[in-house]
Amino acid sequence: MAAYLGIVQRFKSRFRITTNGGQCISCGNCSTYCEMGIDVRAYAQKGQDIVRSSCVGCGICSSVCPRGVLNLENGPVSTRKI
Ligand code: SF4
Ligand code: SF4
Repeated sequence: MAAYLGIVQRFKSRFRITTNGGQCISCGNCSTYCEMGIDVRAYAQKGQDIVRSSCVGCGICSSVCPRGVLNLENGPVSTRKI
């Protein structure tokens, strides 16, 4: 059981959207286009990373953002900043 939970947690943390809230102009594109219905804009405005099991890591929010606020990071461990 513990091993199973470990796997689930690893899967959950697989995708992360990092936000740079200061650049957000609240256009709402990200929330509109997120296929999982996540209110990405709310996260961006608070400068919070999006680490949610419902995020499928499609990267659409990041590609529709006109200000480059959103960044998709893949992988269980990501220490590299591009
Ligand atoms: S990566 Fe895809 S699923 Fe995740 S928050 Fe962005 S648009 Fe939504
Ligand atoms: S698409 Fe970018 S600028 Fe527009 S609300 Fe989302 S994070 Fe802010």
